[in-house]
Amino acid sequence: MTEMLLPVTSSSLLVAAKMVLGFVAALWLGARFLPGLERKGYPQPDGTHKHYKLAGMTLYFMTHIALGVATFGFGVSLTPVIRHFWSIFIVANVLAVSLSLFLFARGRRRAAPKYPHPPGNPLPLWLQDLWFGAEQNPDLFGVDLKMFLYHPSLIGVYLIIISFAYAQRDRYGVVLPQTWCLLAFWFFYLFTHYVKEEFMLSTWDILSENLGFMLVWGDLVYVPFLYSLPGWWLLGQTEPFSSWQWCGLSLFFFFALWIFREANWQKERFKQDRDTEIWGRRAETVGGRLLVSGWWGVARKINYAGEIAVYVAFALTTGTRSFYPYLLPLSLTLLLVQRAARDDKKCGAKYGELWQTYCERVRFRIFPYLY
Ligand code: NDP
Repeated sequence: MTEMLLPVTSSSLLVAAKMVLGFVAALWLGARFLPGLERKGYPQPDGTHKHYKLAGMTLYFMTHIALGVATFGFGVSLTPVIRHFWSIFIVANVLAVSLSLFLFARGRRRAAPKYPHPPGNPLPLWLQDLWFGAEQNPDLFGVDLKMFLYHPSLIGVYLIIISFAYAQRDRYGVVLPQTWCLLAFWFFYLFTHYVKEEFMLSTWDILSENLGFMLVWGDLVYVPFLYSLPGWWLLGQTEPFSSWQWCGLSLFFFFALWIFREANWQKERFKQDRDTEIWGRRAETVGGRLLVSGWWGVARKINYAGEIAVYVAFALTTGTRSFYPYLLPLSLTLLLVQRAARDDKKCGAKYGELWQTYCERVRFRIFPYLY
């Protein structure tokens, strides 16, 4: 499919810059001015709470409206996103580096509050500040940047996947069933993300990470460009896709999505109300602080297992002819296995004996009976 790609030239970089900056600026304006849920964040290390406007669902909805109007009203196609792929990739990298440098310089200049960096790192402090971030929760004109960057990341990967469908229609005159399948999976993955966006407020990145190059690059480059990988294999796909494959794969996807989202929502409900009901019964806990009901009694990081399975479903839409799309679930597995180990350590230090008791009760870290 590489014949669709245009070479990187100054004019294609200019087109890419307009696309990327226009997209990020539109989302930022939406996040700043469109309505969203008002939520109080969890306590920060100094005891204060940040107030968030969660406009994700509005932005997700507006993206569909804008795309529908542009396509059906003005005949706009997203195929150029695929044709200018490498230029867009370069521009996104430049944006990520520039934003990281800006945050680094601003955070250090105003000695902003930050979460402590992971201990034992031999790198000089300034380099750690650049990589992990020099400020815990920076704003830009009233928009919390850490929460904001999830939008170009997630809506970005979604738009790239949609662009593969446009490119396929332009090339073959039809969008193949497996491409529709991947699109539908991403639609539900994001819909279930945005419908309870507030669960993000209790995630590790929001509660314990500063905003530096690691997260900025992850949001602006790693997620959109790596997570859209199966689209390249769907573009040239000609294998038939039977209704049995549709049904089997959809059942697998929705089951995985349910585990992933329900686990996160159970924890979020528990953090809000320790007496909440999980699966029809009052939440069972270790020491009143750690949830052992529902999915949290099956494995300590069952939410990771659910998400990995979701990504396996994304890769399965491409069939089995190539191993490359499976690099996506594989890379997520490596990332989350390493993250689960770090989180176990962090929770061990925070909860002490309670964590030991929890680990004895729930023996598996991510995959029941495996790991
Ligand atoms: P979690 O949402 O699992 O949060 C971990 C924290 O939850 C712990 O540090 C601890 O925090 C608390 N906790 C852990 N176990 C319990 C328990 N039994 N009862 C109560 N609290 C508990 O992890 P992440 O923030 O890493 O991930 C959030 C979601 O984001 C996951 O579903 C993950 O799959 C997804 N993710 C996706 C990525 C991607 O690239 N697609 C990358 C990273 C994450 P505390 O000290 O506050 O109690």
